[in-house]
Amino acid sequence: MVSKGRLSGESFDRSGMGRNRWVDLKGPPQYAIERDHLTSCYMNRDSTPYVLKRSPDQGPASVLSLNYAAALNAQQLAAVTAGEGPALVIAGAGSGKTRTLVYRVAYLIDSGIDPSHILLLTFTRKSSQEMLDRAGELIGVRSERVRGGTFHSVANMLLRRYGRSIGLEPGFTILDRGDAEDLIALVRVQLGLNEKDKRFPRKGTIAEMFSKSENTLRPLDEIVVEEFNHFADHLEALGQLQQGYQASKRQRQLVDYDDLLVLLRRLLMEDAAIRRTISSLYRYILVDEYQDTNRLQADVIRHLAFTHRNVMVVGDDSQSIYAFRGATFKNIMEFPSLFPGTTIYKLEENYRSTQPILNLANAIIDVATEKYTKRLFTRKLDGPLPTLVEAAGENAQSRFIAQKILELREEGVPLSEMAVLFRSSFHSFDLEIELSRHGLPFIKRGGVKFIETAHVKDLLAHLRVVANPLDLVSWHRVLMLIEGVGPKKAQDVMAALVKSDNPYRALSEMPGRTGKGLKNLALTLESLAGEEALRPAHLVSQIYEYYLPIFKEQYDDYPKRARDLDHLQTIAERYQELEAFLSDLALEPPDGSAAGNEAPDRDDERLVLSTIHSAKGLEWQCVFVMWVVDGRFPSVYAFGEDEELEEERRLFYVAVTRAKRYLYLTYPINVFDRGSGMVLSNPSRFLDPVSPALLDQLTLMEEGGRPDWYARDNHEM
Ligand code: ATP
Ligand code: MG
Repeated sequence: MVSKGRLSGESFDRSGMGRNRWVDLKGPPQYAIERDHLTSCYMNRDSTPYVLKRSPDQGPASVLSLNYAAALNAQQLAAVTAGEGPALVIAGAGSGKTRTLVYRVAYLIDSGIDPSHILLLTFTRKSSQEMLDRAGELIGVRSERVRGGTFHSVANMLLRRYGRSIGLEPGFTILDRGDAEDLIALVRVQLGLNEKDKRFPRKGTIAEMFSKSENTLRPLDEIVVEEFNHFADHLEALGQLQQGYQASKRQRQLVDYDDLLVLLRRLLMEDAAIRRTISSLYRYILVDEYQDTNRLQADVIRHLAFTHRNVMVVGDDSQSIYAFRGATFKNIMEFPSLFPGTTIYKLEENYRSTQPILNLANAIIDVATEKYTKRLFTRKLDGPLPTLVEAAGENAQSRFIAQKILELREEGVPLSEMAVLFRSSFHSFDLEIELSRHGLPFIKRGGVKFIETAHVKDLLAHLRVVANPLDLVSWHRVLMLIEGVGPKKAQDVMAALVKSDNPYRALSEMPGRTGKGLKNLALTLESLAGEEALRPAHLVSQIYEYYLPIFKEQYDDYPKRARDLDHLQTIAERYQELEAFLSDLALEPPDGSAAGNEAPDRDDERLVLSTIHSAKGLEWQCVFVMWVVDGRFPSVYAFGEDEELEEERRLFYVAVTRAKRYLYLTYPINVFDRGSGMVLSNPSRFLDPVSPALLDQLTLMEEGGRPDWYARDNHEM
């Protein structure tokens, strides 16, 4: 491979522990550079090359099947063809970070690396699937053997295989956030901590504290004192509760989201043999969206890579938007000290957006207080200015968006190339009605997942009891559905279940007026208990039958909700094993509840409505960002908190950098905010530093007597 290039950056070492290098290639773009070659050719510039003949035991020379230099720019190519060792690609939005990883997968396979030795970690399973599909288009079916997924799904898989070493049975049950909160509440009662005064934190807040502590590798006390100081009086009780919660999970083989990573880390730390096995299984680790990982994840990577240190992470500190889950953009800055000897690559050309959109994006993020300085440029110089639209109210905003979408579709922009983004899921409710009125099909991402709806949780709880009779949280839910069973009775029944070696017999022998309901439940569960091996679809339909009368009794709107249960049945049909079905649902829940989504089941005909968080990494020809009104974006609640404001600013940056060509920022005026008592009327403060020359501005007017309300956009004014 030809190795030639100019190192324009100085040796870079944040840690003081090793030599980290910047590779910042400006010169002629078409050279392939390998890291190890870089140093040698740098030192031996004037020497004459002498070609060593291949010895027979080296096998045939590998011939790359793709022309990487033609598909990538010089910096991307340098990263894609990098040699062994840790590498960090840090770059702004749309600069081809994800593309670089896709080509890296292809390149590794092309160079003869066994695909099953490559691990691709992404933020959602969908994105790893898409990346591997793209790699497959480049390199063929070999890419199918690459292991791809989220940190949590990989942890789930490894723990089921190797977890016994730390006392975890392969059949453990995953608790989602709601289940975790329910278990915390149960343990609180068991420990008698519910007698505490009213200012004791609620279960959701407690779960948040526990989770923060796990994800940031900081003790609970520190989290409470620093971030929840008004609960500092309860430190002791919270500590007790945390211990009780941990013990209860261990006893019952329950694992919450954070545990997946915590336990994987523990497994890797405590069992040297398994650590070596796993580490040599995944010899090349690639991570997308590294800016949204936390300390715990960084540490897991470090252990996974301990035999080879072949880790390549890509990310953009300016797009770090998951601080509420313990992620920190500092993680990406600290990567070189976690992995001494890291080579750093910077990508600066943006291939996604037009220059006017980038100008706006740069102006928004320029004022961010802490960031790696990077300026994006593009060759797509022409394009309309981003448009800022003031609407008289929420509905005018919705009508503008719907009308503009229809107009753009007329002009040839397909619906699938348009997206409407917002800060919080409820911001789109009015728009959803407006879109339906115009017959515009959409799919909504982010927000309430169908798996989080009460009726789906009810049905799943039964399945989970079948899968793991020790699952206390699910027992509680299942019992509480039976007529006449309240919290006290549920506790009594559970106490009897725990003591008995046959929970179903114990259940049917419970005395009292709820006996009939309990007996019926016992019969149903017992008939299924021996049938774990049966297909999940069969189990779902059996339980549905049992649950139907309860369902009708519990929910007035059950016909609408029934569609979710039918949907669950359809999903179940894709699975052979109950355990895989349940884990996948807990780890990667499908989007949106069936209720309210009438669109045909074909992605390509739909417009996307999405929270900004769920739009990460994606791109569309046309993007609307709605509710860009100060008080909603940023939210009034972030006003006093510098760090939160900075996170919201990055969120805004993520939103605008999704657009390729058309960008509309809309905001309603005269909105009364009940929480703060304020009337919201100004555009987001994040637009303050933006020069008016970078934006077109529109004020909407109603039809009749005056020009059309979007007349100015059509150059009629
Ligand atoms: P984000 O920060 O939003 O995750 P990213 O840095 O991962 O963005 P990509 O999504 O990989 O960027 O790339 C953005 C767009 O630019 C994609 O459509 C991609 O195919 C295109 N692109 C990137 N690099 C090149 C290139 N060298 N030649 C042509 N197109 C490119
Ligand atoms: Mg990306």
